[in-house]
Amino acid sequence: MSLLSVNEFGLYCKQGDFYIDPWKPVKTALITHGHSDHMRWGMGHYICHHHTVPILRLRLGAENDVQGIAYEEVLEINGVTISFHPAGHIIGSAQIRLAFAGEVWLFTGDYKLEHDGVSQPYSLVKCDHFITESTFGLPIYNFPANQTIYSDINAWWHSNAEEGMNTVLLGYALGKAQNILAHADQTIGDIFLHGAVDNVNQALSEVGYTFPGTRITADTRRDAIRGALIVAPPSAMDTPWLRTLKPYRIAMCSGWMQLRGARRRRGVDRGFALSDHCDWRQLNQAIQQTGAKHVYVTHGYEHNFSKWVREEYHIEAAIFKTLYNDAEEDNA
Ligand SMILES: [Zn+2]
Ligand SMILES: [Zn+2]
Repeated sequence: MSLLSVNEFGLYCKQGDFYIDPWKPVKTALITHGHSDHMRWGMGHYICHHHTVPILRLRLGAENDVQGIAYEEVLEINGVTISFHPAGHIIGSAQIRLAFAGEVWLFTGDYKLEHDGVSQPYSLVKCDHFITESTFGLPIYNFPANQTIYSDINAWWHSNAEEGMNTVLLGYALGKAQNILAHADQTIGDIFLHGAVDNVNQALSEVGYTFPGTRITADTRRDAIRGALIVAPPSAMDTPWLRTLKPYRIAMCSGWMQLRGARRRRGVDRGFALSDHCDWRQLNQAIQQTGAKHVYVTHGYEHNFSKWVREEYHIEAAIFKTLYNDAEEDNA
């Protein structure tokens, strides 16, 4: 019996007749989190964590039929028992657990084990069948502790400010930006935001989150941002908007920054390997702790990682071919 399989619309549960993170319009869609490769347009009915609801309305429009659900709350659809559990990836992100006829399946969505102080911390869910992402499923990916990265970022901002330079940090508007903002040392200077980041912060404020930072507008005076920290999405790179922030130093915050050459390819001064995904060690820890006898790998280095799981742990491991993709530096 298979509770989840992949078809042309997405991850499908036949017994319950619903999808998880589908990429084509379907009737009922369970959504793990608000990143665009998981939450797409056109579903008849969306079910997501309460804190993803304002993100969905911001990105897909207010008229959508959306049902918010709490972590651990139990839903039943056509006899399949469903619950959402913290994935630790971004605010509102969930692993989705399905139980039917005595079998438990778990889809992680995107996740990380290390707590970022902003998202609800990852919780371990035991299961028989474990579908895991493997965005960073190679042994070369071992991220430094978040605290080390936050200190490095603040030290860099401080030294830039002392030289009269502005500091621009590029990080995805949903997830990375809030992680950066929550740990920026506000004694160093003021914080400013690109409009895309401010839009996400405003949406999250509807469910009780507050983050520092002032939106940059046409009226923002250049001397006001001198020495400041400016948080912007990676898409701001090479835009006229960015040029108005001169003189600045610029850094990219992404797990991909751990790769040699990544910083130079992106044309930034610094790279910080701040990620909202599991690194190699965390992926291995999750595999071992869930107790799953069947593993399915998706969203990254599927071939390498499923082979590793088979050989290292003697667990049956297959590949799920999906359209989830954070391979761009923009979103990992
Ligand atoms: Zn994601
Ligand atoms: Zn993703």
